Amino acid sequence: MPGGVTVRVPAKVNVQLAVGGARADGFHDLANVFLAVGLYDEVTVTPADALRVTCEGPDADQVPLDRTNLAARAVEKLAARYGRRADVHIHIAKDIPVAGGMAGGSADGAGALVACDALWGTGASRDELLEICAELGSDVPFSLVGGAALGTGRGEKLRVLEVGGTFHWVFAVADGGLSTPAVYGEFDRLHAGVAVPEPVASGALLEALASGDALALAGAVSNDLQGAALSLRPSLESTLTAGVEGGALAAIVSGSGPTTAFLVSDGESAGKVVEALLASGVCRAARVAVGPVPGAVVL
Ligand code: ATP
Repeated sequence: MPGGVTVRVPAKVNVQLAVGGARADGFHDLANVFLAVGLYDEVTVTPADALRVTCEGPDADQVPLDRTNLAARAVEKLAARYGRRADVHIHIAKDIPVAGGMAGGSADGAGALVACDALWGTGASRDELLEICAELGSDVPFSLVGGAALGTGRGEKLRVLEVGGTFHWVFAVADGGLSTPAVYGEFDRLHAGVAVPEPVASGALLEALASGDALALAGAVSNDLQGAALSLRPSLESTLTAGVEGGALAAIVSGSGPTTAFLVSDGESAGKVVEALLASGVCRAARVAVGPVPGAVVL
């Protein structure tokens, strides 16, 4: 776009999401293994008279266009830090399912930050950008970094992970979203009075990622929020079953859901799982993507 900067940002899938008990501040400690996958939003910023947000894409009507949009909040934070006005038009070309547990809002926050940093020539360091990302939300730093990473704390303290290959995925997009706070609330309800163990990353899972072995990864993926997501949306059980019957190596709810993620052996197998999911009528759409892919990139 003339005079503007466009940044492409990927979605994520949690190959492991280990959730600890509720802390005094209401948050949960996590051991969160993120993998960036090739479904992308593109965020364009152009100079304007005032801050405004527009959005296009199949789910655009579900995206807030006011100051609650994570992209707008990111731009305001960067502007405040550098003592300038946040007068930009942010346009989001949205392809990541909204409220689908794939960190679409976080992707837009990271994308807008990187785009405005480039537009304004602020020269902010990577650490400064990551600090702003962490203030915006637990998943935002990973959207900036991409690849694969272990997030601890609320998920925002990142350790980059080596990955020895490319993994193939199918994502079943459900009708309607699930609110992340509601899913954590259901997790707390289901675990009331139960001692929840400290969340730790699985050694087998980290080895599987490092070796690029899809079968080993399939045996190690896990999501502690899956029970809560299924409790709020029992129909997801039939989506998971349809994908496994279609040949997926593993089936898991993505983050807080309701998107479900299917690890498959290759592109051909991905096509078969897509067909099985669509034929069973258990999802609104099925998308194919590979990971890991890089984080926010200026186009
Ligand atoms: P996560 O996986 O990080 O828990 P999610 O993928 O489930 O998130 P998002 O798509 O990030 O969910 O959207 C969650 C809510 O955030 C939306 O319902 C919407 O109200 C709000 N939101 C704020 N900014 C955005 C944005 N840029 N894009 C989408 N949703 C946004």
